[in-house]
Amino acid sequence: MRLFDEHSILRFALLFACFLFAAFIPDIVHLSDKPMGFIPYFSAIVFLAYVALFYKFPILGNRKKIRNDVVIPEKLEQVPARDYQKDLSEKDELFQMLVDVSSEGFWTFDVPTGKVYWSNRVAKFLNIASSSIVDSFDTLKNSVLESDWSSFKEKFSRSLEDNAPFSVRLRLLNVPKDGNSEISISGRPQCNEEGRPIRVIGSLTSAQEQAESSRQFYAYRDALTGVYNRKFFLEKLKVDVDMAAQRPDYTFAVVLLDIDSFGAINESYSMNFGDNVLKIVSDRIRSTCRNNDCVARIGPDVFAVVLHDIQGKSSDDELMPMVKRLHNKVKSPIQLDGRELYISVSMAVVVNKDVDCVEDLLSNATAVLRDLKKGGNHGGIQFFAGGIREKAMKLYKLEYEIRRAIQAQEFVLVYQPIIDIEQGNRVSGFEALVRWNNSEHGVVSPAEFIPLAEETGLIVPMGAQILRMACEQTKKWVDMGFSDIRVAVNFSAKQFTLDNMVDDVKRVLTETHLNPKNLKLEITEYTAMCEVEKAIDIMRTLSNMGLQISIDDFGTGYSSLSYLKRYPVHTLKMDKSFIDHIADDEEDATFARMVIGIASTLNLDLIAEGVETEEQLQFLKREGCRYIQGYYFSKPLAPDKALAYMQEHYAVETSKVSS
Ligand code: C2E
Ligand code: MG
Ligand code: MG
Repeated sequence: MRLFDEHSILRFALLFACFLFAAFIPDIVHLSDKPMGFIPYFSAIVFLAYVALFYKFPILGNRKKIRNDVVIPEKLEQVPARDYQKDLSEKDELFQMLVDVSSEGFWTFDVPTGKVYWSNRVAKFLNIASSSIVDSFDTLKNSVLESDWSSFKEKFSRSLEDNAPFSVRLRLLNVPKDGNSEISISGRPQCNEEGRPIRVIGSLTSAQEQAESSRQFYAYRDALTGVYNRKFFLEKLKVDVDMAAQRPDYTFAVVLLDIDSFGAINESYSMNFGDNVLKIVSDRIRSTCRNNDCVARIGPDVFAVVLHDIQGKSSDDELMPMVKRLHNKVKSPIQLDGRELYISVSMAVVVNKDVDCVEDLLSNATAVLRDLKKGGNHGGIQFFAGGIREKAMKLYKLEYEIRRAIQAQEFVLVYQPIIDIEQGNRVSGFEALVRWNNSEHGVVSPAEFIPLAEETGLIVPMGAQILRMACEQTKKWVDMGFSDIRVAVNFSAKQFTLDNMVDDVKRVLTETHLNPKNLKLEITEYTAMCEVEKAIDIMRTLSNMGLQISIDDFGTGYSSLSYLKRYPVHTLKMDKSFIDHIADDEEDATFARMVIGIASTLNLDLIAEGVETEEQLQFLKREGCRYIQGYYFSKPLAPDKALAYMQEHYAVETSKVSS
């Protein structure tokens, strides 16, 4: 307590008034005609003496706003002063003992009085003799760089205003013996029952130590989401597996949650947006799981949960409600930056039955996830079942093989002729179809590797190789005199909607010196419908360059006719599944007539693919389909055979021109 603060002066004044009154009492008794007339005077003296000696005065309203050079919000000035010494010696005795033995430096700041208490450890940092109650933050102010002091002041005041924690790094003017030139000071206001900060409690440590402790914290945490990281998850899983080995009744489950097409979220919005989505998802998982369930982020867009102690409800049916609740919560629409985002999440569930090591458990879980996604069943939930691992192993091997084959350029193209039956069965072009010349398995069909290449994104480098090969081959044929031959190259959805797709195509055309009119791109109806506006934009640009676009497998994707009108496409390819029974099934025949009608109305070329028989050909001819692709004319051919076929069928066979 300061000797001459405003309260002391007031107390002194009141006591002085008491003495004055007391001095007049004999005169008052003497002058009064009532014998008890002095009682009111005596009462007043007692009252004033009591107030002077025992009353706790509130803090005066006009006290300076800046105290200890730190701005205190005015409203906090109204908080009654506390007997700080008493506080420390009684209520905070234990706290004081704890902080003094702690290796961390602590401090407290009393809002009403502005007094600061530093612990022993802080005293050491700031080079002050020993722990003591210091009257202000002056010690700190005098120990650090001026600019750092300003930033401390600012953060401290804001922390009091907002009632929020703060943390700031300060550079010391005099580097202590231990050589740490930077300290990190943090604090958080403590409130009274009315929610007003009455003091600030904080810690102070060397920046180096703080970095070390945060390093230790993040050694087991995912820095972005704050949930556990893969390292901790694996260690935790090991504990569970060991426990299950000792206690046969102990059952737990591992749940993997994979955000489908997360890359597209990053690409369409921003990395920052994607990060926030991950934070929201992790919060949702945490809030839905029980406290003792371990939640971790084990891949960029994969979360894992260990559901502990699920004995008695470990069958798929019993677990399903819990898993579904988690699934529903995680995939519910996300409101972020004024947008509503719908995400799809695939979930794999594995119970620890029959598994006695972490590796097997995780392999089973990832195999389930792969199997789920491979079937195109994005956004689904799947439990582990026998056989999945073997399937997954095969897929892993295949994926590895595809990567290697891209490097080794094992993919080759075969060319299937497209015949113009209105021009005497002349070859109007080819469709380039990929084959994999595998040293172990021989020639592998695209049906076996294209879906996996699409799923893993490997279709992008593979597709680039295919486009270049097709352009180089076509250019050779053009140079040999087949100047208006047109080769169609299949593009998958992932390739077609790549941001730099148009530039890539342009570059390949330039580098291979191929005229765009000799190239056609085939995209499926599904690709065209995926991102309609983007697809239309790309088609328009390509079309303006002189390239043609073909809609493959037409009839299988339910594309709306109104969209079809907007697509700048040149050709429809009627899917083989409609051709197969065209000659013997009235429904298929009707459908084929309808497709022919659509193409003719929209003024588009129509190619019927998969034509194998004379009957199919005759039907299509009768109904007015001009282009035919199928085994009836030719299977896909290696380049030299395709050349020979073209040499035979390129010129118009006038004698055969259909009537
Ligand atoms: P698609 O683009 O619809 O190609 C037509 C498929 O039908 C080819 O199968 C072709 O060999 C087959 N085909 C043609 N005529 C007949 C016929 O008369 N009878 C029978 N049974 N089949 C016939 P392929 O070469 O196995 O290709 C299958 C699919 O793989 C293609 O369907 C396409 O979606 C994909 N694909 C092939 N090559 C590539 C490529 O280079 N890139 C991409 N992204 N996909 C490709
Ligand atoms: Mg095709
Ligand atoms: Mg097709």
